[in-house]
Amino acid sequence: MRHRLLTVCILLGIAMPATATDNSLQCGKLFDSRSGKMQGAHTIVVRAGKIAEVLPGRAEAAAGTEAVDLSDRTCMAGWTDLHVHLGGESSPQSYSEGFRLDDIDFAFRSIGYAEKTLMAGFTSVRDLGGGISPHLRDAVNKGLVKGPRIWAAGKSIATTGGHADPTNGYNSELSHLLGPPGPTEGVINSIADARQAVRQRYKEGSDVIKITATGGVLSYAKSGDAPQFTVEEVKAIVDTANDYGYKVAAHAHGEEGMYRAVAGGVTSIEHGTLMSDRVMTLMKQKGTWYVPTIYAGRFVADKAKIDGYFPDVVRPKAARIGAMIQETAGRAYRSGVKIAFGTDMGVGPHGDNAREFLYMVEAGMPAAYALQAATIHAASVLGVDDQGVVEVGKRADIVAMPGDPVADISNTQKVDFVMKDGTIYRTPAR
Ligand SMILES: [Zn+2]
Repeated sequence: MRHRLLTVCILLGIAMPATATDNSLQCGKLFDSRSGKMQGAHTIVVRAGKIAEVLPGRAEAAAGTEAVDLSDRTCMAGWTDLHVHLGGESSPQSYSEGFRLDDIDFAFRSIGYAEKTLMAGFTSVRDLGGGISPHLRDAVNKGLVKGPRIWAAGKSIATTGGHADPTNGYNSELSHLLGPPGPTEGVINSIADARQAVRQRYKEGSDVIKITATGGVLSYAKSGDAPQFTVEEVKAIVDTANDYGYKVAAHAHGEEGMYRAVAGGVTSIEHGTLMSDRVMTLMKQKGTWYVPTIYAGRFVADKAKIDGYFPDVVRPKAARIGAMIQETAGRAYRSGVKIAFGTDMGVGPHGDNAREFLYMVEAGMPAAYALQAATIHAASVLGVDDQGVVEVGKRADIVAMPGDPVADISNTQKVDFVMKDGTIYRTPAR
């Protein structure tokens, strides 16, 4: 039956639906993200979307399962990118498109971005800002769109004029017409606002809270590093988020705003550009995670060299701040700050996420640590324990690639087998 379906699909030139049978994956190697060790051949038996058995060596297909020959591949737990924006992708047109396009235009684009992300081996993502993502999450969960499992922040929480104030750069007529944005739009200026903004995100179906603790590179505003919340405001956000079981991710470039975010109890610092020893010490004390997003830093620093790519107010920030993140990531790793994987894709092109692994290794992290950052560390940041490792009972999120990614991290860019919740989305061409 499946073969006939395959023939029909080929004749009609349409994509095969993803397979949902039980499988025995015969892997040539298996990376254990818990220990950080590369292991020899293993057979992973997948039943009903979960890992049922992990057997050493190459075993025959278990009863009722189909064998998948990955004997020339390295298998490991599916990856998580903790910082993406599936609702868009930056370009010189980004700043005007917001005025010309409707949400539905961005929503259609996001379908392709979600699929590219999944096919690159990212079975989960945390979408840190954008109104599309809670809806995209629901469409993926319903099986309408192929994409990673999504933890959606929805609208980021900012302060007036801060990074993620949705009206930055508007002319006075538009600003007057729309009035100042408030907690409903994700802009706060007091403790009461802070609480309301988190509750509004709950009402809108967010899974995680994102705050912009300092200025940002790509926003239409002068400062990329000014602190933009008081400690009391951060604490009010974190306390209210805890009421709903939410983790809080804080975008931060500047030192003071970053320090306040960590002191206020956020789960992770994103970008972390001007991270000082004082911040690192506090992060280690409080167990705060660092998600460097080296990719985005390098991408914007690169584009800043092109005339007209960014508005004049953005260009110097992109050149200065972007170039620093990779060095900071290396310094934070050496000082013992816990690091998890994120790219800020949507700044760079969706689907190229695995390049971050190369940048992490270039920054001085061991390859095995970079792989843990995208698996078991990422699961910790999300606050879940059913993914990020290949162990009995966990979700069957499994990726495979030719070669050994610990020996050569660039193999992560060659993923050609992707399984999410036991469903195969990509399989090597034989
Ligand atoms: Zn971002």
